[in-house]
Amino acid sequence: MGAIETARLIGPRATTSLVSRASTLASTAEQLAVLQRLPISDFTTKLTPTAIDIFQINVGKLCNMTCRHCHVDAGPDRTDEMMSRDTIDLCLAALDGTEARVVDITGGAPELNPHFRYLVEECVARGKHVIDRCNLTILLTGPCRDLPAWFAERGVEIVCSLPHYRKRNTDLQRGDGTFEKSIEALRRLNAAGYGKGDPRLRLTLMHNPVGAFLAGDQKSMEKEWKEGLEANHGLTFDSLIALNNMPISRFLEWLEASGNLQPYMELLVNAYNPGTVQGLMCRNTLSIGWDGRVYDCDFNQMLELGARYPDGRAAHIRDFNPAGLGARSIVTGRHCFGCTAGAGSSCGGAIA
Ligand code: SF4
Ligand code: SF4
Repeated sequence: MGAIETARLIGPRATTSLVSRASTLASTAEQLAVLQRLPISDFTTKLTPTAIDIFQINVGKLCNMTCRHCHVDAGPDRTDEMMSRDTIDLCLAALDGTEARVVDITGGAPELNPHFRYLVEECVARGKHVIDRCNLTILLTGPCRDLPAWFAERGVEIVCSLPHYRKRNTDLQRGDGTFEKSIEALRRLNAAGYGKGDPRLRLTLMHNPVGAFLAGDQKSMEKEWKEGLEANHGLTFDSLIALNNMPISRFLEWLEASGNLQPYMELLVNAYNPGTVQGLMCRNTLSIGWDGRVYDCDFNQMLELGARYPDGRAAHIRDFNPAGLGARSIVTGRHCFGCTAGAGSSCGGAIA
């Protein structure tokens, strides 16, 4: 078996951040140039926004882990990119000017932001449905150990990354020992009442493929995972969402290094599904970066493709104008094929 074929099967391993290694791909311009050099079609679908339903707030790039597929290039070294309390207050003021129902808090490991609990409390007090995008292992670290019960008191939905219900596949993508820690964190969430069918205490698992292929069928995976986690570990959860890996940041690096970039992009382009367009998350979501810049989605944020008002001004949370943003054109690029391939992919899972 050749090196490329082996890499396709075993997928990416845990790594360090592109920034810490001074990789050329730490530059978002270089990432876009790499995609643009490929002999594939451009993404030409025009995307227009609907009303803002979801505020996705990325509170920073600091993370206790360094997964190879990470589209944020997060890691323990990313201490500089951290949303300040002032910017959080600007986000809350902006939120008050919309009808958004959901606040989706992400990172990095969002729990590591010193103002994380303040943000959650303020959103809960406003009657918003709050989602914490949690990597599970963070719940075992000192200051976060009480979070399962703390979240439960506030009805926060937990969306946790777990690449697979088998140890080998999970540790390959996220690092040795991740699986055992994740299982222990799930046990604590179950003990706090999560994942048992209570609509106030929803526990959602999030799967990314461990390699250069599309996410499998979400419904059948959910059934298989429920059976596997219950039989092997006595664990329960409410639902599973499956996301395609985006060809950006560290997954882009792995695709290039393993010789999978061209085949993966061809796979995405050939699997383009127009039926996903209506449900793309960039249409009803706004993504806010740690420094207050506003984006159409978390992926555009990581490529520094900022949202712009119709007059060309870059959008920032300090001069937030929802009506103006409603008239914008969504910024697209070849990375968008990651969202429209197959059953589609969004922060809420499959689309079509
Ligand atoms: S846990 Fe999430 S944010 Fe942290 S390195 Fe892994 S994929 Fe990135
Ligand atoms: S990356 Fe996905 S969510 Fe973001 S603009 Fe492109 S299609 Fe929309």
